Amino acid sequence: KKLSEFKNEPFTNFSTNENKQAMEHALAKVSKELGREIPLYIGSEKISTDEKIISINPGNIDQIIGKVSKGTSKIVDSAMNVALEAFESWKQVPAAERADYLVRAAALLRERKHEFSSLLVLETGKNWAEADADTAEAIDFFEFYAREMIRLSETSILRPLTKIEGENNQMTYIPLGVGVIISPFNFPLAIMAGTTVAAIVSGNTVILKPADTAPVIAAKFVELMKEVGLPDGVLNYVPGDGIEVGEYLVEHPKTRFISFTGSRAVGCRIYERASKVQPGQIWLKRVIAEMGGKDGVVVDETADIDAAAKAIVASAFGYQGQKCSAGSRAIIVESVYDQVVEKVTSLVSQLEVGAPAENYPVGPVIDQKSFDKVMSYIEIGKSEGRLLNGGNKTDGNGYYIQPTVFADVDPKARIMQEEIFGPVLALAKAKDWQEAIAIYNDTDYGLTGAYFSSSEERISFALDHMHCGNLYINKKCTGALVGAQPFGGFNMSGTDSKAGGYDYLLLFTQGKLTSRVS
Ligand code: NAP
Repeated sequence: KKLSEFKNEPFTNFSTNENKQAMEHALAKVSKELGREIPLYIGSEKISTDEKIISINPGNIDQIIGKVSKGTSKIVDSAMNVALEAFESWKQVPAAERADYLVRAAALLRERKHEFSSLLVLETGKNWAEADADTAEAIDFFEFYAREMIRLSETSILRPLTKIEGENNQMTYIPLGVGVIISPFNFPLAIMAGTTVAAIVSGNTVILKPADTAPVIAAKFVELMKEVGLPDGVLNYVPGDGIEVGEYLVEHPKTRFISFTGSRAVGCRIYERASKVQPGQIWLKRVIAEMGGKDGVVVDETADIDAAAKAIVASAFGYQGQKCSAGSRAIIVESVYDQVVEKVTSLVSQLEVGAPAENYPVGPVIDQKSFDKVMSYIEIGKSEGRLLNGGNKTDGNGYYIQPTVFADVDPKARIMQEEIFGPVLALAKAKDWQEAIAIYNDTDYGLTGAYFSSSEERISFALDHMHCGNLYINKKCTGALVGAQPFGGFNMSGTDSKAGGYDYLLLFTQGKLTSRVS
């Protein structure tokens, strides 16, 4: 049956009593189920290992979310064999049938939306709205890629070929083989599941290695795919150490492609390691690497100052600044600088920090390592700018840090150049709008940006000259929507693979041309 047109999953309005109670109910239910032991899922087998990843709640560090078996290189080898075998049959399954698994998984996920969101709240410290958006985006990826696979299989629609008389020429997009999915902690459902199902629906089989701070939500997704009857071996779940499992998978001669989302340092390392042709390897590995950002909001003197200040704060502090799209810089034209800075400071001072389960606007960062890193950048910031808000950790049984703002920061300062990935915002002054755009462009990254102005001429210049994968005009630089705002960045932000976009699935396929005399 034909699928309806793709529509984004609506976000939940938690200000209604009904939705609030539904979320509280789900949180209570999920809290009762915490702490279970989770095996590796390889083919039809569940494998438990002695060594475990202990996933904890970053907002309440005594709470154990799950005890997850840890993969080893030996287990990776067996997962690879299972995935290779499953590929032989999975690649023959018609596209529409493969897509159907995604549509059915989306329906179940929609039904259990608050349960999944609750686990995100507890395992990764998202507040309700952030968790709900993560779950909604996951649903979107399922629905969108299902439709895209069907479209891709109807090749004439995608790429009509030049007609040659007496010939029948056809392009088909066939899968690549076994892929490795390495996902980050910060969209532990949407990105983890989105990158996985994109590869699967295209006819590949995969080994999924989620971030070690968010393996339980990944297991819940894998269990969902089992529930809808995805054939064994198509999706294999092997959490474990970044090096022991992640790097081993990257270097494996049977790995055909790697879909990585994470930091610049790890992405560059994967890119390098994957380029080496290993003994027994008969292809060049394809690498999709979506990495970090140093995103920013530019404000000129013609802008709606209130809207700009709100967007700066939302971009910088949503999910504690732990988004690749986080606007960790704002560049403001001199004549309105003081005005914008004052509004930003006042908005930030109203942001309360507290437990995600209780739905505070700002929660904890993900772990001790991240906490230490952010705190060390705050120390650097104290010598690079004027501290306006925050600057300290806050009370609570977790990795809580005050939303922190530095003003008068030099464009070349470290906190203007390096990804901090925490609740830290740097503000810089520019003499005019052209200089502001030049400062915006002056980083190694190029993921998201925003420009606030009411001048058509300047907006048109910004559209051409702000060098980033996702550019927003008069709106915040976070929150890309599947289908509407395909997402990915330039330069050291990665390979610009445009997740949620109309050419994304091509990355998981290879074009085969057949030409016959008709
Ligand atoms: P990360 O530390 O780079 O980790 C990402 C994944 O790579 C994890 O599963 C990690 O495993 C694994 N890994 C670590 N070392 C590895 C190695 N040597 N070989 C193979 N895999 C390895 O990133 P993160 O802290 O989870 O996520 C935050 C970063 O992701 C930020 O830089 C953010 O900007 C970026 N990000 C980018 C996008 C985008 O679309 N551009 C989207 C989201 C996030 P362990 O967890 O076990 O170490």
